[in-house]
Formats: sequence, C-alpha cells, structure tokens
Amino acid sequence: MTAPSALVLFSGGQDSTVCLAWALERFAHVETAGFHYGQRHEVELDQRGIIRDAVAKIGDWGARLGPDTMIALPELGRLSETALTREREIAFQESGLPNTFVPGRNLLFLTYAAALAYRRGITTLVGGMCETDFSGYPDCRHATMTAMQEALSLGLDQPLAIETPLMFVNKAGTWALAETIGGAALVDIVIEHSHTCYLGDRTVRHAWGYGCGVCPACQLRANGYAQWRGSTVA
Ligand code: ZN
Repeated sequence: MTAPSALVLFSGGQDSTVCLAWALERFAHVETAGFHYGQRHEVELDQRGIIRDAVAKIGDWGARLGPDTMIALPELGRLSETALTREREIAFQESGLPNTFVPGRNLLFLTYAAALAYRRGITTLVGGMCETDFSGYPDCRHATMTAMQEALSLGLDQPLAIETPLMFVNKAGTWALAETIGGAALVDIVIEHSHTCYLGDRTVRHAWGYGCGVCPACQLRANGYAQWRGSTVA
C-alpha cells in the first residue's frame, strides 16, 4: 500500500533528485518545495523544472507528481555570508566546517516546509540530508532530524514525519540507489540534469554529469560515481 502524500525538499541537486524518486515510488501524491536564499548561482534552481518533467515520464510517477512551491528566504543569504551565497573561495574554517555551511539552513527549510505541508494536508517531509557527507554539516545529522521531527510535531500539534533516505548512504550508494529505484532512466536524469557544482559550472560534461570537476561538491560526486561504476563493473 502506498502512503498518501509527501513533500520533498527539492533543490535540483543529485541527492534531492534521488529523494524525489524515492518518494514517488512510495507515496501516492508527491509535492516539491524549493528555496531561494540568494545562492550565488541559480543553476540548481533552473534545473528543478527540467528534472520534475523528466521524472514524470518514468512509470506512473507523472500521475503522482503534484505541484512545486518556491519559497524565497533572502534574509538567510544576507545573514549567513557563506561561500554559497557570496563570491568567496570555498575553504575550511577553524571550526572544521567548510565556509559553504549556511548556519541553520536546514532547520529553516524544514520549518517552512512543515508550514506548507500543514496547509496542504501532508504529514511527511522528505529531505536529502546525509550524515556520511564529507562536510559534516551539523544540521544534516540524524540526531538533528529526530529533534526537528519532534519539535515540528509538537509545534504543529500533529504528527509530522521527516524521512531522510540518504542519511547513512555514501555518494556511491546514492548512485546505486538511483539505479535501484528508477533504473537507467533515473541514472540518466541524475547525470544530465541534476546539478551539484558549488561554482554553478555547466560547461563541461563529465561521465558523472556537469560541473567544474574540482570544487568539493564535484569531487564528491565524481568519486562516488567512480566508486559505484567500479563496483558495478567488477
Ligand atoms: Zn564544481
């Protein structure tokens, strides 16, 4: 039996594209939400509609895919001053976190998504937060998600589930999961249309997709792809 409905936090990146497919496989009705917070490039956001149109052609997913909502949070970009929202070199800070860390970003995203879900009668949020990610963003941790689920359920006075299918999956595992869920068609969508590069570069097409190839996000994606292909071929 498929669960009734879910709202996917959908950025247009590799992880949230796989999460969207994961939700479309499990829920009868799936909506998406995206956030505009003054990212220094908007390539990811441009790819969102393209990816939605493409996944809608897989199986019966088109009938399950509901509307998309863009939520503007310009203050987040103004307050946080990170390498994702300003023209600054990506580097690691004294805290050990890269300066791409936008403090509290996922907490805000989940709170806004919960408000939208409440209004639309949706009781499950799906996000691509991942604890095994290189960066160790504290707002991606399983413990943070568990606490947010409890806080939002209490604050809304109704149960709200937060599903994070990639929480303990590495990048090679994310590629493998795409193939398991949506076969070659979904892998192709991830390669051709999902965007990960921090620099917004889509001029060069690598085996793993478009990107500068040298920023931390590209390296993670490329290494995961190589690892996955290696294990598939062997
Ligand atoms: Zn890059």
